[in-house]
Order: sequence, then structure tokens, then C-alpha cells
Amino acid sequence: MALTKQLPDSFELGPIRPPSEAYSLLIRVTRNCPWNRCKFCHTYKGEKFQLRPVEEVKQDILTAKAIQDRIKEISWKSGYGGRVQEAARVILNNPPNQAYYNVALWLYAGGESAFLQDANSLIMRTNELTEVIRFLKQTLPSINRVTSYARSKTAAKKKLEELKELREAGLSRLHIGLESGYDPLLQYMDKGVTAAEHIEGGKKVVASGISLCEYVVLGLGGKKMWREHATQTARALNEIDPDFIRVRTLTIHDRMPLYNELENRDFTRSTDEEILEEEKLFIEQLECHSNYVSDHITNLLQEIEGKLPQDKERMLAIINRFQALSPAERASFIVGRRVGIYVQLDDLYDWHKQRAVEQVMHKLSEGSNQIDDKVIYSLMEGFI
Ligand code: SF4
Repeated sequence: MALTKQLPDSFELGPIRPPSEAYSLLIRVTRNCPWNRCKFCHTYKGEKFQLRPVEEVKQDILTAKAIQDRIKEISWKSGYGGRVQEAARVILNNPPNQAYYNVALWLYAGGESAFLQDANSLIMRTNELTEVIRFLKQTLPSINRVTSYARSKTAAKKKLEELKELREAGLSRLHIGLESGYDPLLQYMDKGVTAAEHIEGGKKVVASGISLCEYVVLGLGGKKMWREHATQTARALNEIDPDFIRVRTLTIHDRMPLYNELENRDFTRSTDEEILEEEKLFIEQLECHSNYVSDHITNLLQEIEGKLPQDKERMLAIINRFQALSPAERASFIVGRRVGIYVQLDDLYDWHKQRAVEQVMHKLSEGSNQIDDKVIYSLMEGFI
């Protein structure tokens, strides 16, 4: 396909990106997930995996550039003197399509980061992925950070030299869904990877110099496997020693295979308080040097963040503080958090927020102030 053909007004976007890539330019290099079997994941279910031809991806990059140039033009024409952030803000208020919205948001944030979608870009041939990254950086030279999702198994299969080649081309960070380091749980969830493969893939990424972010799902072990999930996940991460550990809490939707296990009572969910006990055990066992990040709305206590090992005691103290609250205060915090009123523990002492939560609790419990766990789960899932 000739790259000089008239550019369209839009380019292809995949469904998700990590929370930390909210302001990245999104370039879809593959479609959907080549594995697509994890029980706790609904994102690509029913969708077929496809590699996209490199020329097609390049065309999208050129379209992103054309949109960027148009936004710059708008900046001059609207009297912003070429200040692209001002023009980007105007576009964000009324974007003609999602591609414009993405480019405007990216420019608004400084235009430095790009995220390659979808679930496992590493599955591309290394020479093709390298070509895409180089083309992206040449076409949009303000980009100095390129990140993507990958599967551990695919990373384990790549040669270390290939990963280094990708780093040299400009791949800055890989986001990998470790989810758990406990083999029976990985198998139960049909993750398609063992703890040993997680460790092999993760260590290879670290050795290549590409920054690594490993994701963990709190609550994934449910009531049966929570303890092993916490300890074995920490053990795997201690071996990998990634730059970032990001936690998010299990949510279950009817589009996930795990929903059926829940319905037939094969899987029993842990409550918020049980998950916090699990997180405590998990953090206690961590002996690595990672940044622990809790940037997902599903996490009960997002304030549990820090650099390991030095912040470990401070992080654990947050959990202890919650656990030392009275049962009524803990119940209030959980509800307030799940309806979006409370953000952190200190909010419990904000009188206005406290009143608002009391009213919600009264309504949800129909006056009894006893709220069923199922109601809490549905409130949490309402955010996703
Ligand atoms: S590998 Fe990732 S994207 Fe694919 S099904 Fe599993 S969790 Fe979902």
C-alpha cells in the first residue's frame, strides 16, 4: 500500500490501555488477544485475534500525524500562536471522532508517550515490531516513550537479543499481566502460563533493559486460594524484580467465564476485608525493589503505594490503620469507597462525606445498616 495515498480522518483504536497510559497516543498493531481464554477477562471475548499488516499500521501513524498537524493549524488560526495544548483543549470539548480525541489528549499531555495495542504486541515478528516503532518515532519525533502489553509466555519465547533490539528501536516499557504466581490458580483461571514462564519472561524483559510493569489481581484466588496466591505471587515477583508492580482488584461480569464458576459456586469471592488481609500478606512477602502502584479504581485502599523495600512498613501501616477501625467505620469506609465518596482513610473524618455515606448506607440497607456483600460487589463493578 502506498503511504502517499490520501489520508483518512480517523485511525483504528483498540478497546483498552493501562490506566497509566491514559494520555498516550494509541496505535493498534494487532487486534484482540491471541490467547483469549483467561476466565477473569472479558475484554476480547468473541473477537478474533489478527496481526495487522505493517503498512496498515504505518498508515494509521501517518493519519495520527495528519490529525496532529491539523490541530497545530487550528492553534494558529484560532489565535493561540501555535500553542498546541490550547487547540487540543478545544478539540477535546467536541471531538469529531475517537481518533481526534486520542490525538488531542496526547498533545494536551505533551505528546511524548505512545502505547501499542492490543493484548500482546510482542507476538509480532521482532523485525516488524521494530519497524513500526522506528517509523512511529521518526514520524512523530516528540514521542520519547513507547509502551505495550505483552504476555509472559511470548516474552519467554523471544531471544534476549530480540528484546534488546526492540529496546534499541525505542520500546521503553512492557506491561505484563502476571495476575498470580500460584500455578494451580493460573491453571484454574486458564491463564495459559506457569509461574516459571512468568519468571522466565519477566527476567528476560528486565535483562533487556526494557522497563517492566507486572499486574497482579487482588482477590483472584477467592476464598480457597487467597493465601497461596499472595505468597506465590510475591515469590515470583521477588525473582523477577520488575520496575513496577500494579495491583487491581478482581471484578466479575457476566461476560467472563469466571461468572459461571461463581454461579455454580465453584469460585467463592473474597470480601473487601479479606482481600485487604491478602494484600497485607502479599506486601509482607515482597522482597524486591519495585514501585508498588495502586492506580485502579477497584482497589479499596489506593493510598497503599510506595517504593520497595523502604516504604513497606508505611504501606502495611495503612492496612493496619484500616483494620484497627471499628466494624461500623470499616463498613462505612467500604460503602463510601465503592460509591465514590471516600478516596482515602482520612475522608472518614470529613463530616460532609460522612453524612453522605450515612445516607447511602441507610438507603442501600433499607434502614438496617446491614449491607450484603453482593451489593458491595455490584457497586464496585458499576465503576468498570
Ligand atoms: S492474556 Fe490478557 S487479554 Fe488475553 S485473555 Fe488473558 S487477561 Fe485477557
